[in-house]
Amino acid sequence: MRRRKSGLAIMAAAVAAAMTAVIITNPVSVQAVDAPACAVGYQVDQWSNGFVAQVKVTNNSAPIDGWTLTWTFAGDQRVTSGWSADVTQSGKVVTARNQAFNRGIATGASVQFGFQGTFQGVNETPVDFTLNGVRCNDTNPPTTTTTTTTTTMTTTSQEPPPGCPSGAFCDGFENQTGTTPAGDWSLTFPNCQGTGTATVDSSTARSGSKSIRVNGRAGYCNHVFLATPRKTTGSSLYTRFYVRHTTALPEAHVTFAAMKDTADGGKDLRMGGQNRALQWNRESDDATLPEQSPNGVAQSTPLAVDRWTCVEFGITGSELRTWVNGTEVPGLRVDGVSTPDVDAQWLRRSGWKPALTDLRLGWESYGSGDDTLWFDDVVMAASRVGCS
Ligand code: CA
Repeated sequence: MRRRKSGLAIMAAAVAAAMTAVIITNPVSVQAVDAPACAVGYQVDQWSNGFVAQVKVTNNSAPIDGWTLTWTFAGDQRVTSGWSADVTQSGKVVTARNQAFNRGIATGASVQFGFQGTFQGVNETPVDFTLNGVRCNDTNPPTTTTTTTTTTMTTTSQEPPPGCPSGAFCDGFENQTGTTPAGDWSLTFPNCQGTGTATVDSSTARSGSKSIRVNGRAGYCNHVFLATPRKTTGSSLYTRFYVRHTTALPEAHVTFAAMKDTADGGKDLRMGGQNRALQWNRESDDATLPEQSPNGVAQSTPLAVDRWTCVEFGITGSELRTWVNGTEVPGLRVDGVSTPDVDAQWLRRSGWKPALTDLRLGWESYGSGDDTLWFDDVVMAASRVGCS
């Protein structure tokens, strides 16, 4: 069986949602002056001591082939991971370098990258962005009067759906306005883009009138995910979503939910199927839960087709539990005690303790396996929420 280990470039949605967002617009010149050589937009989505920043770099000068953006944090912000750029930090100074796919920025064009970080106190927006040594957002020719306006806009998200626990992230996709998922979500096409699609769908909803439809296709380029940064902090993460498959889980290995694990080299913790049953898979070493022995597979469960299935999992420290329609699946439990056919293979690596930074829902097939599937009513919370 072929399985691909991918280094996903994760495009995270970083717009206002279940929390307050601060949007800093690009500078605006009130008199006709030269545009700054570069403009940097910096949009933050933050929770108690963590945040995700989406950075947009616009080149107003000659075409660039290879770029380095630097800035200085005013506080004790710490970058923990990045995507679409190599983001490193030394003291308060952060350096973001292009990746191979986005090294070129034509005149007037933009690139975007993001990172996740932690902070204490106030998370101030940096003011000293420099692109390849040139100060950005700086319309300051010495003989011309200019004004730079920074607009701070506070947006308040929609009310969470009824029954959404305090502090939880709940999304039934009812606030989506187009067919391309937006807001808290963005689309990712790992490595290359093919025929896999994910769209806001108004024909099949578990709640309200909207859901996400994924046209999942086998093939390296056809992988597609709907992605959002992790919306909760703390040592426990409980996630609940409803999924509706059209095709039974195949013999071949597939993934329909993935999370980046920064404690595992940034590789994915994957939920999907193999041998027709639900399973977990660790991208870094390809361990599966349960083991793919007949006894192991028998302790997991297939997923129904043409109806909504409630899938829940909870991760606390090194323990993982999984429920389907409210019933725990014994073969999908890592409890720290090695159990043959269940978590014996998983626990061969000691010290597994995931640090998950996002949630992706979609389709990734490593052999055969096409499916059309829907997702709705996603919850991320600090404790189990059940199938309400
Ligand atoms: Ca819905």
